[in-house]
Amino acid sequence: MNDSEVTRSTLYIVATPIGNLQDITRRALAILSSVDVIAAEDTRTTKVLLDHYGIVKPLVSYYSYNEQRRIPQLIERLLGGVSVAVVTDAGTPGISDPAVAIVRAAIEAGITVIPAPGPAAFVAALVVSGLATDRFVFEGFLPVKKGRRTRMQVLREEERTIVFYESPHRVQKTLRELREHLGNRRVAVARELTKKFEEVVRGRLDDVIEKITAKGPRGEYVLVVEGNRGDTDEM
Ligand code: SAM
Repeated sequence: MNDSEVTRSTLYIVATPIGNLQDITRRALAILSSVDVIAAEDTRTTKVLLDHYGIVKPLVSYYSYNEQRRIPQLIERLLGGVSVAVVTDAGTPGISDPAVAIVRAAIEAGITVIPAPGPAAFVAALVVSGLATDRFVFEGFLPVKKGRRTRMQVLREEERTIVFYESPHRVQKTLRELREHLGNRRVAVARELTKKFEEVVRGRLDDVIEKITAKGPRGEYVLVVEGNRGDTDEM
């Protein structure tokens, strides 16, 4: 791909690494090198990536707190012929991060939206979990307060493998609540995937909670939980 292959007035949704800077496609790099502007969730994080690959591009911030102001500005520029790449801090923009709103706004404005696929933490965790991957549901982050309990109760009946995102300061609480509502299911807790302290703890919830409590929660987590198999060992 060269400069002329990035089309004017087009919004590119570009996946970036979830840790290891090598995990980026050649096409993603070509797009980032060729667009007029890159909208980034955290410009400092993205600058590390761009510097690593020697890419020099104008960066604008686009994150949940400024999206209402930023979206109309970016849409206007796109309509005026500018090409824009959206990247987030990690993985595929639009998966549990602010990119959804600009994609919707672009579609509404008749702007072409092109994906440049790549890493997503939930896929990486699911495929090393050892749990069923033929049917799964992605739940993203559980609600912190309102609706949390109801969500877990609904998920109790879910037969497909269930995948959650979780932050280090809430991971133990979430695992304990999953144990309470779903029973002693099999689980794989993946943290810091593709990074130096990458680790996957597998087992039943009781054991895994014990191990994670002993280690102390650190880093970013994906929780992969076995679906309801009507298994008596679960309780
Ligand atoms: N867009 C991203 C994706 O494609 O996976 C997800 C963004 S979301 C704001 C961030 C969450 O993704 C983290 O809290 C964690 O649950 C998960 N995550 C991101 N990078 C990870 C990694 N290297 N290892 C484990 N989980 C990760």
